[in-house]
Amino acid sequence: MGLWRMTLYDGPGTDRLRPGTVAILGVPYDENSSFMRGAALGPPSIRQALNSGSANMCAESERDLGSEDRFQDVGDLSLGSGEAALDEIQSAVDRLLEQGAYVLALGGDHAITLPILKAYAKTYGRLSILQLDAHPDLYDEFDGNRYSHACPFARILEQELAVRLVQVGIRTMNPHQRAQAERFGVEVFTMQDRAWQKGLHFDGPVYLSLDMDVLDPGFAPGVGHPEPGGLATRDVLDLIQTLRGPLVGADIVELNPKRDPVGITAMAAAKLLKEIADRMLDAG
Ligand code: MN
Ligand code: MN
Repeated sequence: MGLWRMTLYDGPGTDRLRPGTVAILGVPYDENSSFMRGAALGPPSIRQALNSGSANMCAESERDLGSEDRFQDVGDLSLGSGEAALDEIQSAVDRLLEQGAYVLALGGDHAITLPILKAYAKTYGRLSILQLDAHPDLYDEFDGNRYSHACPFARILEQELAVRLVQVGIRTMNPHQRAQAERFGVEVFTMQDRAWQKGLHFDGPVYLSLDMDVLDPGFAPGVGHPEPGGLATRDVLDLIQTLRGPLVGADIVELNPKRDPVGITAMAAAKLLKEIADRMLDAG
């Protein structure tokens, strides 16, 4: 298409971004997945769907991201392993935020949200997080791993990286995670509680963490932990388009291309990417 600039992200000082740019950052990291690997293959899969020529680059607002110079792909991180990789993710996001960018990260599994939020908390003092997910991801530890993709929001709230966490789409709550939600004051909308449809309102800056498994497996089968009974793609689009508050950062995580035979999940992710980027371009 020629509209999608691919510049491999090679560190500080290169390709300085115009402030207010939405920077697409691939984070191919899935070491902390508890059930199966494959989410590290997410970024190229989403890019391929976005660039497939199957759809144009317009969001539903009719803003053409293809001709928007504040929409840029800064490429994929090249990561080591273990906690060092988490530190590398954090410093990459630090560098983008220093340039005044809004980061839209493509995972990777949900463990990447912790280092991203560590960077965000330094720039944004009173950040709210909106997590769309089948799972609360509030375990204190999972299989002995405190950095598991089942734990990031416990770590984020312990470290006070956000002032508010709102979860939508939850349908795997258990007693331990319910206790954690109460301990941290998490606002949980389970799939049985559709009150979020009256509108979500945030006073300060908002970070959106979109786990693709919030969608029903009928819409998005290509995830590591498909959980029946989820949201329609249209529900999530409506939520993104109507939420009130400046969207300053986001991630799209847990797409597993190995489980996505006709690319339907990648197409959903690419569609959601466009709508999220559209809102981020209006963050101010
Ligand atoms: Mn998750
Ligand atoms: Mn999930």
